[in-house]
Order: sequence, then C-alpha cells, then structure tokens
Amino acid sequence: MLRRAYNAGEDVKAQQLAWKLIEKGRDLLVAQDVLIRSLWRTSAYDQVLELTERWPDADLHGLGAQAAKRLQGERPAPKVRHGKIPPEILRSVAFSSTDMVENWHQTGSVLWFQHPDGWVHWTMPDGWELSTCHPSLLELSADVLLRPWVPSVRSPLTPGRVPGTELALSWSAGTDSTAAMQLLPSDTVLGYHRRTVDGLLDHRNADRTIAAVQNGGHRVVTVPSDHEIIRTHRGKSIGFSTDYASGVHLILLADHLNLGGIAFGVPSDNTWLWKGRKFRDFPSTHHWKTWSARFLEAGLHLVLPINHISEAGAMRIVSNGPWANVVNSCMRGDGKTGCERCWKCFLKNGPLGRPFDEKSREIKTFLRARPLRTAQHALWAIQSMDLEHLVPDLAHLLAEDLSWWEEAYRPGLDLIPFPWREEVEARTREHMLQILDDDSPLSRVDISFGTEAVEPYPPEASKTAALEA
Ligand SMILES: [Zn+2]
Repeated sequence: MLRRAYNAGEDVKAQQLAWKLIEKGRDLLVAQDVLIRSLWRTSAYDQVLELTERWPDADLHGLGAQAAKRLQGERPAPKVRHGKIPPEILRSVAFSSTDMVENWHQTGSVLWFQHPDGWVHWTMPDGWELSTCHPSLLELSADVLLRPWVPSVRSPLTPGRVPGTELALSWSAGTDSTAAMQLLPSDTVLGYHRRTVDGLLDHRNADRTIAAVQNGGHRVVTVPSDHEIIRTHRGKSIGFSTDYASGVHLILLADHLNLGGIAFGVPSDNTWLWKGRKFRDFPSTHHWKTWSARFLEAGLHLVLPINHISEAGAMRIVSNGPWANVVNSCMRGDGKTGCERCWKCFLKNGPLGRPFDEKSREIKTFLRARPLRTAQHALWAIQSMDLEHLVPDLAHLLAEDLSWWEEAYRPGLDLIPFPWREEVEARTREHMLQILDDDSPLSRVDISFGTEAVEPYPPEASKTAALEA
C-alpha cells in the first residue's frame, strides 16, 4: 500500500502510511526510505535533513546532503520537459515565426500549439472550435506564451474582434484569485488552468475548493494543459512564460464565452509595489501600458480587480467570506490543512491564526534572507503575530503600525474598467476594508536591505514572475 501510494504520487497518503509503519517498527528501513523520498519530492527539505540525520541508514540516495544544499539556496539545473506527442498528421508541420495563427491546430477536443522547440496542448471544453476563434485571440495567446523568446509575436494583432459582454477570471483556487472572485460580479466565469505535467503536484486542495465554489453557484471552466513546459526549453523550471500566460486558456475561450474582459488576481504587492518592497506609480509603468493595450487589440479589457488590495487584504476578504475553510495557500498540505512548515504557512496561514512552526528550517531560512522576500507583506505578518524578536535587524522597519497594509488603495480602482469598477468598489466597501487615498502609507513604501543582499531559499517554480517589467 505504501509503495502504491508513493508510485501514484499521493505523497500525503504515502507519508501517513510510512509514519504508521515506523511507529509500529515494521519494515522500518523501507518505510523510512519512502518517507524521505516522498518528503524530498514535495520540496520539504528541512524535514528531509532532519530525518536523514536521525536515520542515516535510510538515506539510500544521499538526499540529506542535497537537502542541506537546497536549504542554502542551491538550485538544480532545470530539466527540459517534453509534452504529449502530436498526431502523425501534424508532425511534419513547421513552426511559423511570421504567422502565429498557423501554429494552432485542433484534433477533436485537443488544441495543439507549435512553439520553436516543440508542441504543447490544451483539452478544450465541448463545442469549442478553433475555426470560429478570431485570429487576434490566437496571436495574443502566442504573445503571452512566447514573448521572451520570439520577437515577432509582438507584431500588431489582426484587428476587428468586437468585445463581448462577459467577464472571466483566471482563477487558481488560491487566496488572491479567490479574493478577486469575491469582488467581481457573481456571474464571472472562473477559468481554472490544470497543469497536466509534473504529476507531483497535489491537486486535492484545489479540487476541494473548485467543488465548494461550484456548489456555491459559480461557473468554473477547467482547462487542462501542459503549456508551462515551454520555458523549460529556455533554461527555466516549469511555469508560466509571462505573467498573463496564466490566463491563456481564457484568451483562447474568449469568443466561445463571449468575453469582453479577462481578470487576474494580482495584489498590490505586485502592482503598486516593485518586488513587494518599493512603491511605483503602476499606471505609468511599461508593464501596465504595454499589456493593457495589447489585450485591447484583441477586444479584451485587462482587469486587475485586486490591484488596490494587498495580500493581507485578500486574506481578510477570503477569511470573512464563504470559502474561508476551503482555501489554503499551502502547496504541501493534504487538502484540508497546511503543512505548518513552509513559508506560505507562515505568511498566509499564520496571520489567520492557523498553526505553523517558527522553528522549521524553511521558515527560519526565509526570515534570515535579505532582501526579505515579499518584504512589505512579510513585515506586516511578523508584526501582526508579534514575532518581531525573530528579525532583530529589521526593528527600524517594524517601529510603525503596519495595519494600514490590510486596507484598500483608492487610486487602484481607477485601473478597473467600467462596467466592473462600480461592483468592485461596492464589494470592497462591503468587506469593511477602508479605502485609503493617494497619501496612503503605501505610497511611501521603500524598503531596502543594504548591500549584503543574499538571495534566499529557492523561489517557487510554479508562480509567475511578479510583474517585474
Ligand atoms: Zn505549508
């Protein structure tokens, strides 16, 4: 049973079974070995290190030493990943760098896209037809997937797509996008991208949230795809090619769903703050000007419904709403609770009163790293949990009351297009967030960490770069 769970990628189950055997003293070495390997592949390096020190005989693959290196920030070279092989008929088709529309093909419900290094695919909902998709949507999709590597994807899009009337949200079932969902009209379509590569991700957390939200009357469209492998051909780990590649399934569905806008749950940490630690005038950034105009070329508004709200504000909205008990940001939990040992459990579960272990090596490593990751939010979390003693060198940044970080920033509302702005504003007020004006302390955030900057523990592979253009 233990091996079956491990081989099926069910790590939480495998770990529970292994612990049971270990407690009973049965098949000890096997159980310890499987437990260590399972913890390793869920990136729980601190526990791997702890257990391999306790049971050196069970460390058959030298994972203890590797875990120690990972905890010091060493990253393995990312592996190139290959997707599903396209049908025979497509294999001789060459990639076109001049006409992006030619790179898309449909066989049954499967949509294929050829990129310079291979193929990726999506399983589209019933009734979706490539032939009825406006070319600008296929060109914009190619742009969000290939912009860093194929300059020609920036060419003007085919004009003429008339904006639809509906709105969809790129929804990950996590805290930020669920807060975005709660601020948008309840008929907003929720588009969930299901990663089909890397079988190690536990989908149960998201599945539970999806089921609860569907029962609550929301429309969820799930689109499985492996497009996150594209960038593994360019020296990066699996993940989104650009910030908006996380919503490519909705760009592709825009005509099918009659969309006039696509929303993304990006909080102020990544909009009005640069790297979560320095204020910038977001509307005048190259990033916002470029991408909002680009979506409009395809008849789509780019909607950032929580750009005026921080991660802390998003946590507050979700914890006061109907989905408080089904959303958990920890990627290593069992679908019900967090692992209590990761940085997410510290930042996102701790301030909500959920348990975490401040002595876990991962949390200690992040707390020591300078620059502190997502600094403004981390400082707020530290202060809100009265843990200032863990970061004595940051006392000067914790002297002032940071509770304003939970409040909304009014200028952000101006970025949200009509007809959605009014609803977002009204719902922001409903969630009892204060709305601070231009002179909010947000506009003075400028956190620096001197010169001895050390990049911390490996950043998450699955998350997109945080709007750093
Ligand atoms: Zn966790």
